[in-house]
Amino acid sequence: MTGHDERDTTTDADRIDDGDNAGDVHEPHPGVPTLGRDEQPSIFVPDDGEPEVADGGDERSAATDGGVKSATGGSDSAELDPTTYDPVDVFPGGDLDLRDGADSCYKCTSCDTSCPVAAVDDEFPGPKFQGPEQWRLKRKDDHDIDASITSCSNCMRCDDACPSSVPLSQMHNEARGQFVERQMEKLSREYVRNRILSNYRFFASIASKVPRLANFATNLPGAMWLAEKTLGVTGEREFPPFATQTFRSWWRERGGAQVENPDKRVAYFHGCYSNYNTPEVGKAMVRVFEHFGYEVLVPPQKCSGTPMFANGMLKDARRHAETNVEELVAAIGEGADIIASCTSCSMSLRQEYPELFDIHGIEDVSNHTFEALEYLRIYEDLEGALADSELDEERAFAYHAPCHARNQGLERQAVETFRDVDGVVIEDVGDSCSGISGTYGWKKEKYETSMKIGEEMFEHMEHAEGDVGMTECPTCAMQMEHGTGYEIEHPLQLLADALPIDA
Ligand code: SF4
Ligand code: SF4
Repeated sequence: MTGHDERDTTTDADRIDDGDNAGDVHEPHPGVPTLGRDEQPSIFVPDDGEPEVADGGDERSAATDGGVKSATGGSDSAELDPTTYDPVDVFPGGDLDLRDGADSCYKCTSCDTSCPVAAVDDEFPGPKFQGPEQWRLKRKDDHDIDASITSCSNCMRCDDACPSSVPLSQMHNEARGQFVERQMEKLSREYVRNRILSNYRFFASIASKVPRLANFATNLPGAMWLAEKTLGVTGEREFPPFATQTFRSWWRERGGAQVENPDKRVAYFHGCYSNYNTPEVGKAMVRVFEHFGYEVLVPPQKCSGTPMFANGMLKDARRHAETNVEELVAAIGEGADIIASCTSCSMSLRQEYPELFDIHGIEDVSNHTFEALEYLRIYEDLEGALADSELDEERAFAYHAPCHARNQGLERQAVETFRDVDGVVIEDVGDSCSGISGTYGWKKEKYETSMKIGEEMFEHMEHAEGDVGMTECPTCAMQMEHGTGYEIEHPLQLLADALPIDA
């Protein structure tokens, strides 16, 4: 992942903006670490064994563990020659060539020990199997994708754990996409349920036209029981309420941006949840960014694709990504960087989009995307601004860093931002996964696994001083609330309260 200062200088935005974009106007705040996952190059060593004849008669080197040397270099590094292999699709019919990534796996099992699903579910074979091993199996014979790929929650912790930059989540996404496309019965209850869950935006957009009625209906006794019996959506959770006014409707009603500033522009990717369920997060973001003199743009947008990736609905995800990329590239052309208040949305735009799709401008979108608090920590003096904090009363929070925040190097940002603020107590509740992973914990058959994974976090929250939770991820927030009964806030809400902003 590249930082703001590492942008491709030949992007559309820079051509349109003549180099005078936001990054040139204000420099990164000193002391903020380089963000993002380890991008050390994959290492491929040709196999010494018998050449393998692949479909179509091409002679290709076999991808075996015997052909893989140390991922961090070694005495044989002179033999490395990535030009000696032919690119192949990961799985027939796919567009991706992940061979060099697969060959980088040296079976250290760090990914397996970091996997929260494998830790509580003995039947889940773990990320090493789902990634490099399944890739090899699939290449050699006409193997089906193993159905256990649907038990991967797409938390992406294995990406972070791999010392060899094996693109595990990319492999999982591709395998899951193929499993759903070719092996899943389209009339099955599981497929229909997963399609509904991953297209939350479609149903939320309808419900938000009549939010009171939708909330009444989902709260009726027996509504969740019915959802479980008919669709396989767990009846153990409470459906999150729809806001009586969406963020976009509020934005239109207020007349859009109140600050005009061509030198400091951000385009807000609010995602589905901040728009339909928690517009207070988006409103806090607007107050904070306008306080720092930013002109906020709110481009048309669709779902980031996060729930679609997790359910193997790659065609749906691509359709949404095409709209998002087109609109966000236009905003970049206006001199804006993209900010998201949901860490899964920023993860998707930054990492999953360019890994999975080849849409024109997608690299520009990836390079210009930031999580909102991350952006302020890079470009503004938050510490100085918070020195005049005006909180009326002491507030204590139990903070959980979402897995997708970890993957972007953001796991400490909230604690570091607020720990020295007068009147705020903030405690990190540890590095465990919340267990819900978007739609995962909403599935009847995954609910128990989801709650087992979340146990450690619930326990730590209960031991923390604060009885209000805090996180950047809307579904982690659901799980935190479900497991503890606490109210949950987004860091932007506390920031909006703590800064000297006129109401
Ligand atoms: S993405 Fe998460 S659940 Fe899936 S294999 Fe990796 S660590 Fe396990
Ligand atoms: S952490 Fe990386 S190198 Fe180690 S087993 Fe997993 S994929 Fe292979």
